[in-house]
Amino acid sequence: MLLTITTTHSPATELGYLLHKHPDRCQSFALSFGKAHIFYPEASREKCTVALLLDVDPVKLVRGGGTRLKQYVSDRPYVASSFLSVAIAQVLSTALGGRCKDLPKLAQTPIPLVAKLSALPCRGGEEFLRQLFEPLGYSVSAEGHILDEKFPDWGQSQYFSVELQHTLPLSHLLSHLYVLIPVLDDNKHYWVGDEEIEKLLRHGEGWLTTHPAREQITRRYLKRQQRLTRLALAQLIESDDPDLDSAEESHAEEEAAVEKPMSLNQQRMDAVIAALKQSNAKRVIDLGCGQGNLLKILLKDGFFEQITGVDVSYRALEVAQERLDRLRLTRNQWERVQLIQGALTYQDKRFSGYDAATVIEVIEHLDLPRLGAFERVLFEFAQPKTVLVTTPNIEYNIKFENLPAGKLRHKDHRFEWTRSQFQNWANQVAESFGYTVEFQPIGTEDPEVGSPTQMGVFKR
Ligand code: SAH
Repeated sequence: MLLTITTTHSPATELGYLLHKHPDRCQSFALSFGKAHIFYPEASREKCTVALLLDVDPVKLVRGGGTRLKQYVSDRPYVASSFLSVAIAQVLSTALGGRCKDLPKLAQTPIPLVAKLSALPCRGGEEFLRQLFEPLGYSVSAEGHILDEKFPDWGQSQYFSVELQHTLPLSHLLSHLYVLIPVLDDNKHYWVGDEEIEKLLRHGEGWLTTHPAREQITRRYLKRQQRLTRLALAQLIESDDPDLDSAEESHAEEEAAVEKPMSLNQQRMDAVIAALKQSNAKRVIDLGCGQGNLLKILLKDGFFEQITGVDVSYRALEVAQERLDRLRLTRNQWERVQLIQGALTYQDKRFSGYDAATVIEVIEHLDLPRLGAFERVLFEFAQPKTVLVTTPNIEYNIKFENLPAGKLRHKDHRFEWTRSQFQNWANQVAESFGYTVEFQPIGTEDPEVGSPTQMGVFKR
């Protein structure tokens, strides 16, 4: 991936001062995902060009600290993406911030600049590219690339070679690229959290508020996360749009709030870990791992040797990834864990070979008619020696003070079962697939309605 920036400001070599990179030198910087090289293909009084060559290491992307979900073969090493934004922020941070010790005035002065990007993925095509840069005053020229020269019928790819021309302070150009490249790509290689809002507002200062595509930019920059987008736009335009509210997230919070007073989640995790250890299960697959509540605990415990999390939601896996990243584990510890995207209702070879499978607060999210498919995937094909299934006990719901009568604990729950409904289901599953099953209450047991969570421990 190559970005060049050329100026014809006189003397043009002052670009070196602005960037804090001497035109006579070629410098390399190690980044978490590869290397950035900075050099000057031309440097005269009349014209000076700096090149930022990004050498993204695809093996590192898959194995290293980044997301573990990507394939070895991807376009990332070749295109301008959020990796370029990170490189700009790390390698050219002073210039991006508009600071220059030697020529402070020049850092604020509009100078003629031309930026060229060798390959820029533009989701939304050339039209969207123009919608982003032209309102900022750029002359845009873009050359689209066809998917494959041998197969012209396949048509255009989303990749463009792009040239942006404008007279403006260098820091403005860098800020525009920093924000708009991932927006065009509509992707980011890292988990996007609340701190991304701060970055967007900082680098969008002075131009984003009045940009006609401000909403699309914000939404895509924040990876289409509605809660973050709403927060950012609210700060940008000082108004709030309730339509953008994220139902999904508030539902998850709702369930946690209902159950929180008794720290039920903690008790559930303790019961699961104890049952796994009792079964001597060292290789564990957590089906429907969500945001990695259980994975975190398994990973911190040296007893567990191989830990896999599966979820159908890519977004949940990204959150899980980010939360595991924060544990700051050693490489050896990391090698025990993997996250995979998959559906529990389709047979999948990757689910085989484990001592135990945990299915924690997941079955109630499956449509009842699909439950049979899930049973076969787990008990007939994957066949772990131990299976732990937990699910709410609906009888207990009347005990939750903050849960209105007749309501389930989470809006996405397709059902919640009484103890006898769960036990009937589990006994029938055990019998059909050659397992035995025992039941354990989780949380304080009430003499009449039982415990808030019920667990089935299946053994083959
Ligand atoms: N086990 C986790 C998450 C429970 S929430 C915990 O205890 O915190 C239920 C999870 O099941 C969600 O993350 C949801 O994305 C996932 N899920 C629902 N249906 C699924 C399916 N068919 N295949 C895989 N995962 C599914």
